[in-house]
Amino acid sequence: MLRRFRLEEPQSVGEISELLGRFGDSAKLYAGGTELLLAMKEGLVHYERLVNVKGIEGLNEVKQHNGAIYIGALCTHHQLETSPVLKQNLPALVKLEENVANVRVRQVGTLGGNLCFAEPHADPGTLLIALEASLTAEKSNGKREIPAESFFVDAYETALEVDEVLTTIAVPIPAKPSGVCYMKFGYLERPSVGVAVVVNLNADRSVVDDIKIAVGCAGPAPMRVPEAEALLKGKSLDEATRNIVQAGETSGRASQAISDLHGAQDYKEHIVGVLLKRAFHSALSQ
Ligand SMILES: Cc1cc2nc3c(=O)[nH]c(=O)nc-3n(C[C@H](O)[C@H](O)[C@H](O)COP(=O)(O)OP(=O)(O)OC[C@H]3O[C@@H](n4cnc5c(N)ncnc54)[C@H](O)[C@@H]3O)c2cc1C
Repeated sequence: MLRRFRLEEPQSVGEISELLGRFGDSAKLYAGGTELLLAMKEGLVHYERLVNVKGIEGLNEVKQHNGAIYIGALCTHHQLETSPVLKQNLPALVKLEENVANVRVRQVGTLGGNLCFAEPHADPGTLLIALEASLTAEKSNGKREIPAESFFVDAYETALEVDEVLTTIAVPIPAKPSGVCYMKFGYLERPSVGVAVVVNLNADRSVVDDIKIAVGCAGPAPMRVPEAEALLKGKSLDEATRNIVQAGETSGRASQAISDLHGAQDYKEHIVGVLLKRAFHSALSQ
């Protein structure tokens, strides 16, 4: 049962920030409401004021500029799974978005809401970390860039300040020859384990010039795994292929997996390794 609240309808990011700063813990911004209204209906949280951001112009567009894709935080998952710009430049993100939740949630749920809620069993954060995305946080008197890697602090906790609004997610388009892959596993409503790999090869495709690995869902927050990347970066394809099992074990141990309804810690660690191997080969095949 939803308790009474007051609805604010600001017209600019500055106004949103001012409202959030003025009312502090008694107010909350909402976009699609798929997480927030559910939590309020179940009585888990209550806010006296909700700040509706859907009327803010310019935050629901996907644009390409100077080798990067700029995604407005209010873009819904459905917009992203059907975006021609993303299909052309970041098909791995399109595939991820096609498999988020169900069609009803994808129609109204936004990428910004997904990232800012920081629910551990979510997909986009993991891939955005591997892609080295940058998130723009704005408030009435300025803005700052937060690397995706530093945005997720803990379960349900981000680096955003109370009066900051996530406005844009900037994703560099990986230089060619490269491959990008996100894989997830789960049997409940939300994913149990997610792994993302971004591989750059040298010109004749014989050496792994660079690789980014991120794991999510297993632990409280998605994270990059530099120690696994070190086992593959700069190696010939043969050597990297030999090292991939070790990189998977390393990623599993680093994932901070916890035992919960989705599975036991050691099981999740094992699945991280399985997914990493598959994602690596899938990225190479691109
Ligand atoms: C049944 C179900 C299944 C799901 N399955 C998956 C899944 O498989 N994979 C997956 O990744 N996700 C899954 N989700 C999560 C889904 O992606 C999110 O519910 C959705 O993206 C949240 O977006 P929203 O706009 O509705 O957020 P809201 O509910 O409006 O907001 C969520 C939180 O984010 C804050 N917020 C929102 N936008 C901003 C902003 N621009 N700046 C600052 N703070 C902001 C709000 O204050 C609130 O605290 C599932 C959700 C449901 C309900």
